[in-house]
Amino acid sequence: MRALLTTLAPVPEGHTIHRLAARHAELFAGRPVHASSPQGRFADGAARLTGTVLHATEAYGKHLLHHHAGELTLHVHLGLYGKVTDGVGEPPEPVGQVRLRLSNDGSRARPDDRHWLDLRGPTACEVLTPPEVAALRARLGPDPLRADADPDRAYARISRSATPLAALLLDQSVVAGTGLIFVTEALFRAGLPPTLPGKALDRAGWDRLWGDLVTLMTLAVRQGRIDTVRDEHLPETMGRAPRVDRHGGEVYVYRRPGAPCHVCGTAVSRGELAGRNLYWCSTCQAR
Ligand SMILES: [Zn+2]
Repeated sequence: MRALLTTLAPVPEGHTIHRLAARHAELFAGRPVHASSPQGRFADGAARLTGTVLHATEAYGKHLLHHHAGELTLHVHLGLYGKVTDGVGEPPEPVGQVRLRLSNDGSRARPDDRHWLDLRGPTACEVLTPPEVAALRARLGPDPLRADADPDRAYARISRSATPLAALLLDQSVVAGTGLIFVTEALFRAGLPPTLPGKALDRAGWDRLWGDLVTLMTLAVRQGRIDTVRDEHLPETMGRAPRVDRHGGEVYVYRRPGAPCHVCGTAVSRGELAGRNLYWCSTCQAR
């Protein structure tokens, strides 16, 4: 069952984490939180956080950060299996392996202003000090969804590397927050083969690719799903059936092996790169 779920549910990409950060700020920021670990594995961390005011939240790539009073930062990485749920009112009895439960201060909050959050199955759930937060940022590449992102840093890595572009863009130390869907689709939209060596991409090509990642990821934050097809390739424009897939959005090549390319009709190719499935159109992405 677990293997099946892995196949069906893509790993959360950066837009999901940015949405969670905004949501958590809305629910909890500016007030003290109660933290607990019903499962027990985060009991010490929860004890340090409980009673502290959550000042701000942020996402950096696929990393979620909650900054609390006392220079404490909660760091969460969902990984493959992590899930966050939240609700209004009195928290329910914990179900399953709840690593972290947060709620706002019930004694002062109105019933409809009481919120809780449960985190299950994350790869990382830990309390970091400011130097540890700095170290985390330092090992991540620029995040297209962040105003402070510096695409030059990524291009410095890409332009020196013979590694295939798809692998570079999936490497979180080169670009943070991009997963398989954004990378696959941005390369299609740029007409670039996923196997193109990084150093074969010129500066203008990188600027266009980066700009497109910013556009696609920003749209995904707004819509809560990844849509990458241009208006002329939407189902209603083309008179085709809409996509049916767990990730929900309309895409060009991601997980469409053998299906006709929306632009040229060529069957979409699938191949493997560093253990990940890649998808591309051998006509539109020829070089
Ligand atoms: Zn094509």
